[in-house]
Amino acid sequence: MPELPEVEVTRRIIEPLLCGRPLREVVVSKPSYFFLTPPAALRRALKGRTIERLERVGKYLLAAMDNHQRLLLHLGMTGQLFSSNAHSPRLLSATARATLAPEAQSAFAPDLHTHLCFHFVDGGPSVFFRDVRKFGKVRLLGVNEKDPRLEKLGPDALSIDGQTLRQAGAKRKTPIKALLLDQGVLAGVGNIYADEALSIARVRPARPAQKVTRTEWEGIAAAVRQVLARSIETGGSSISDYLRPDGKDGGYQDERRVYGREGEPCKACGALIERMVIATRSSCYCPRCQR
Ligand SMILES: [Zn+2]
Repeated sequence: MPELPEVEVTRRIIEPLLCGRPLREVVVSKPSYFFLTPPAALRRALKGRTIERLERVGKYLLAAMDNHQRLLLHLGMTGQLFSSNAHSPRLLSATARATLAPEAQSAFAPDLHTHLCFHFVDGGPSVFFRDVRKFGKVRLLGVNEKDPRLEKLGPDALSIDGQTLRQAGAKRKTPIKALLLDQGVLAGVGNIYADEALSIARVRPARPAQKVTRTEWEGIAAAVRQVLARSIETGGSSISDYLRPDGKDGGYQDERRVYGREGEPCKACGALIERMVIATRSSCYCPRCQR
């Protein structure tokens, strides 16, 4: 599932492709739970408009248009936002891939999972939003219209500080891992980077938040900022469906300390990484380095 780094990398690469180019038309798929605004209304509203800015709020993208309406986009579990110039075999479903010759497998044409196709007046590369499982979302927000999804988000995880985390968690019995996943406490962290940050901070994911020391809160906040910044630098984590909008894979998956490494040796001490379930999410940690 795309977390803050993957959404930020997507934003940085897709922004120059999406912004400042008048839209000729936006082709939409059939009505489904992907569309919070009905697809036909979306198509009418976007025709002829120009997107001026693309911002990130937590794991959401917000495209501001020339008429001050905004488009809220969420990648969900399997959402991919990319250029028609992108080439990657992972842009095709396994069944579609199997029918093609190896040299044709990287070409992409919009398929039934492509819910939004942005085509531009200038005739240059189109932008596609594809989402196989449709947990992604798109909603048109009117001028000054607010969305409850954005209203309830805490401060952005890229700039989180120890004091903010401590204030949110100091009196709570909830495991520290669950606190980091709470988007109302800090926005943008999901399972991968919560595990990675707790590994850097040497705190076990199951530790009740109220047992975290003042020094550790500072360490956890610094680790969250560090791991997110490093992942953005490497292009994000391409673990399941995520790929960069230019079709390339991210690089952070090769640097993982604990996430998805159950049974493998800790890179610091050699102890085997263990896994437990916290708040229904799988959590990996080193039993020796993390206390
Ligand atoms: Zn270790």
